[in-house]
Amino acid sequence: MTIALREQFPFYAARAACHYLDNAATSQIHSQALAAMVGQESHRANVHRSPYRLAEAATQAYGDARAKVARFLNAASCAEVVFTSGATASLNLVAYSFGETLKAGDEVVLSAAEHHSNFVPWLRLKERAGICLRILPVLPNGRIDTARLQDLVTERCRLIAITHCSNVTGAVTDVAAVVAAARAVGAKVLLDGAQQVQHGPVDVAALGADFYAFSSHKCFGPTGVGVLWGKKAMLALLPPFLSGGGMVGSVSLETATFAAPPARFEAGTPPVGQAIGLGAAVDWMMTLPWAEIHRYESMLLARLLAGLAVFPAVRLIGPADLHARLPIVSFEVAGIHPHDVCQVLGEREVALRGGHHCAQPLLAALGSEGATRASLALYNDQADVDAFLNGLEHALKVLS
Ligand code: PMP
Repeated sequence: MTIALREQFPFYAARAACHYLDNAATSQIHSQALAAMVGQESHRANVHRSPYRLAEAATQAYGDARAKVARFLNAASCAEVVFTSGATASLNLVAYSFGETLKAGDEVVLSAAEHHSNFVPWLRLKERAGICLRILPVLPNGRIDTARLQDLVTERCRLIAITHCSNVTGAVTDVAAVVAAARAVGAKVLLDGAQQVQHGPVDVAALGADFYAFSSHKCFGPTGVGVLWGKKAMLALLPPFLSGGGMVGSVSLETATFAAPPARFEAGTPPVGQAIGLGAAVDWMMTLPWAEIHRYESMLLARLLAGLAVFPAVRLIGPADLHARLPIVSFEVAGIHPHDVCQVLGEREVALRGGHHCAQPLLAALGSEGATRASLALYNDQADVDAFLNGLEHALKVLS
């Protein structure tokens, strides 16, 4: 990489020795995002409420953050960007609000590779509303079997809700095939972009979906904020999810009318400081040379996969090729619990995650009870990958 990135992350000033490879859980915050958030929080006023200058400035900064996110997503307008508390809240918003428009017998298509955030809300809707869930299976390498779209997406399908990239396997979904299958029957598409956004700006217009959900903390912004992007015409049709201040037109003792989107979906005081931090993070991301970063991340991924393939006791959970794949690598070690692997590597300052990764149906489909995961971001380097591989060799010796 030709650009020096680590010095832009306060984390590395404090923890230079850490090999942070848990980026799929949360990435480190960029200094511009932190500065923007601290700046806002130390001169705070509520938004949309009061006419004094400080409050007007807060409202302006919150609106500017929305505009930055809209640019990052190539959205048609700021009104398509709803701030939520994170991807989980965004996905629940669709399951509740879009869910209210569904009736018993309507079908929602998911995949077996979904994070629980894009699975459990739909299971609950099935119980509440009697909708049917149809599940796209995964292939043995963990990729979603999009060849099954043909028989699983029927005339009764109202929505395909699917991950853009798996947080376990790193496999990127063939979104074009999903959108084509949905359009053929007049269904809508919700993409869970939680993992994808960390690896560059997303073009929602080119993707052709109707909804896109992500979290700020996975794309170098602060925790506590996320986004639901929705096509303007789609959002306009949806009833509110949470109710309260800020989302109404007028309220009487008998009834209430609701504001237009995005305000309709932002009840209560929004996460103002965090949204402004996210705006700064995506603004910074848009200045980066993404083609070069993707080549760099692929090089590190190839090194990591080749290193893993050397250990006979290791089984990769996910595709072994680099095509349509992000640098998220999960694996099992025969006879050793993932938490033990993580602990031994943790003692060497290699930060990994182990367990079911909030994707129990996926692990079950791939015959796994738990996996260890290393996930790379743009600030990782070869020393991180080597520390991981050397640490794993050591772990296999001490744990076998
Ligand atoms: N979807 C995917 C694919 C994820 O990886 C995650 C986070 N692990 C989520 C949804 C939920 O994100 P959050 O916890 O930030 O709401």
